Amino acid sequence: MFVFKAAVVGAGTMGGEIAQAIAAAEIDVVLKDVDGKFVDAGLEKAEAVTKGQLDRLVSKEKLTQEAADARLAEVIGRIEGTTEYSSFGDVDFVIEAAPERMEIKQAIFRELDAVTPGHAIISSNTSSLSISEMAEATLRPEKVCGFHFFYPASIMPLLEIVEGPESSPETITAAVNFARKIRKQPITCAEVPGFVVNRILNSAVGEIWRAQEEGGLSIKAIDEGVAAAQVAPMGPFILVDMLGLDTVMHVAEHLRDSYGESFYVHEGMQKLVAEGKLGAKSGGDGFYKDGESQIPGDAEPDAEKLAELWTLKALVEACLVLEEGVCAAREIDFGMMAGAGLDPRRGLFPPFMKADQIGLDVALEKLEAAAEEHGERFSPPVVLRRLVAQGRLGAKSGQGFYAYPQADEGDQTDTVKLETRGDVAIAWLANAPMNSISPQVITDLGKVWKKVNDEGVRALVIASAIPVVFSAGADIKAFTKMDEAGGKELIEQGHGLLRDFGRSSVVTIAAVNSLAFGGGCELAMACDFRIAAESASFGQPEVNLGIIPGFGGTQRLPRLVGAEKALEMNLVGDEIGAAEAGAYGLANRVVPDHELFDTALGWARKLGGQAPIAVREIKDVSAKGDLDDGIEAEKRGFATAFFSEDAKEGIGAFLGKRTPEWKAK
Ligand code: NAD
Repeated sequence: MFVFKAAVVGAGTMGGEIAQAIAAAEIDVVLKDVDGKFVDAGLEKAEAVTKGQLDRLVSKEKLTQEAADARLAEVIGRIEGTTEYSSFGDVDFVIEAAPERMEIKQAIFRELDAVTPGHAIISSNTSSLSISEMAEATLRPEKVCGFHFFYPASIMPLLEIVEGPESSPETITAAVNFARKIRKQPITCAEVPGFVVNRILNSAVGEIWRAQEEGGLSIKAIDEGVAAAQVAPMGPFILVDMLGLDTVMHVAEHLRDSYGESFYVHEGMQKLVAEGKLGAKSGGDGFYKDGESQIPGDAEPDAEKLAELWTLKALVEACLVLEEGVCAAREIDFGMMAGAGLDPRRGLFPPFMKADQIGLDVALEKLEAAAEEHGERFSPPVVLRRLVAQGRLGAKSGQGFYAYPQADEGDQTDTVKLETRGDVAIAWLANAPMNSISPQVITDLGKVWKKVNDEGVRALVIASAIPVVFSAGADIKAFTKMDEAGGKELIEQGHGLLRDFGRSSVVTIAAVNSLAFGGGCELAMACDFRIAAESASFGQPEVNLGIIPGFGGTQRLPRLVGAEKALEMNLVGDEIGAAEAGAYGLANRVVPDHELFDTALGWARKLGGQAPIAVREIKDVSAKGDLDDGIEAEKRGFATAFFSEDAKEGIGAFLGKRTPEWKAK
């Protein structure tokens, strides 16, 4: 399923910006509303956003004014504003962004089912309503999903892709790839009230609302204290003023109605909404007016304590989301990073990363104390108790929700860290931020491999030291700086190393925690086994840059998944999720995120105990074919593609975030 043309229904606060994001990714989009004046407002919004983005590039001298003007016209030219369905006959993906009322949504879904082609995916930007109820209004429930942007859609990178019970895996894969195409960062989750980010945020912020009202605390002092305590990007009351009190209240009430009293609705907020005081959108009159609090209470809060309640409640809710199977651990954290602004680079950590830092045993103790003081809503979740019982105490023990390198003493390379645990070794890829496979990584991995062999280690796990990525692929910039001879030498060195993996009595296991793209996917494929976390994904996107896989992707992928599927993946360049990778045989096992590392270590222990000569011979003769001939052919093909003008154009376009123009030269 490919998206050549999209549509957005509802040109309000969200719709205009969603259409803009699609058009900016060079995809034609229809923007529909019920009245011309709403359509015009949506188009104006899209234009203003685009202009703002381009102005910033011009002021940084990355673009001339002339080029910016042309680009603005091009982006806006891709958006067709309308009040009719007449242009919906050839759309591939629709995002409904109409008011949050089920009867409106169902009526629109019913209409869309009749005016769009049968293959089209119909999605909703709903923040709280049931996707399956909307799907019931269509004859294609398998092609319906949630596609939940965050406000403001032009800036917030997160997209929650919500899988209804009837959404098909193909629909979800297509939605993920479409999300990436429009330069958003998707997570996938099941259909539950509040999905992931709003649910966790509301659960946590509700504790601050509750404490404020129960203690008559000053909201100004809370906002200052909580922001300074580094648990959230800004104070909870200022934030609500920005988002709109009515929008926040609606979600908070919905969550309290769905999950019960562990979610709190601020009564003062309800009163303000009833008076039409909605924050920024009602002229700046909300929790604050002209900088002064509009809420009773001037008692001084214990900000540290409030911040701790926030952190603990966010952890409880995140664990529940995980335990209920709504979303994988890494995606929950990633969602809180991309959707709630918890950016580790700014010292703000999402729930599981934070718990790992505090120490899971310490977090458990704190939760027990909080449950004693505040009641059951702070009861420590099972998953946390279980991890502590296993001695997985977080960063300090090398394993909590995530695995952490505990590199061996002595010499270490810059980009790959060697750790020995018992009789197995771990090569931690540590080339921040994206673990790109640079020439240095290949050299460092070679050194680690030599050491492992010299020391008689029998099994090596290749894992990522970076929680959000396994490896995003080759370091394109570094490769383009190499001359032809240097490039050739590097390719030979890389192939030599990966080929050695397959011939050795040392068993190699890739613990794929997250994205494994391009060279990262090829590195994983060169290992004897791939254990994938649920939130991992795999892809060979080289074709999008006008090049071909260079480290065995055209040879090992067909051997793993079959010629047809490999051809499809290499030619289309889209990613596939862990479940699909497991079904095709690209991943040997798919496990919950927080079980990944232990599972990979378990495999390493088992296989490292097998007879070395037998292991080596089995590996060497298994599926013995013409891999070496194939690799030679790939090297020739890679050189032809890599030194073509199209490759220059493709790589330039990738780095410049534009669409390449191929010339077949
Ligand atoms: P909005 O009220 O600003 O805009 C909705 C638009 O839909 C209006 O312009 C309205 O005229 C139009 N509309 C009504 N009926 C229609 C129909 N039958 N066909 C076409 N258009 C129709 O609402 P919004 O804030 O943009 O929210 C839209 C959706 O996005 C909601 O489901 C909301 O929950 C969700 N959402 C909102 C936010 C947010 O912060 N505003 C964030 C994430 C998701």
